[in-house]
Amino acid sequence: MDGRQSAALPAAEEEWRAAIEHAACCLACRTPGAVCETGGGLLAAYNAATRQAREATP
Ligand SMILES: [Zn+2]
Repeated sequence: MDGRQSAALPAAEEEWRAAIEHAACCLACRTPGAVCETGGGLLAAYNAATRQAREATP
């Protein structure tokens, strides 16, 4: 696949998509107060990717 549509942070786009796609079909992620290990891990990966992207481009 060649999905190179540049977003604000293309480096984190995959992580973000994975996170929202998981949340879209995960009941725990959509329940306020509930903790989802998978969703939390995906969001952590997204945050790490955005941080890396920011550090790479000053
Ligand atoms: Zn979840």
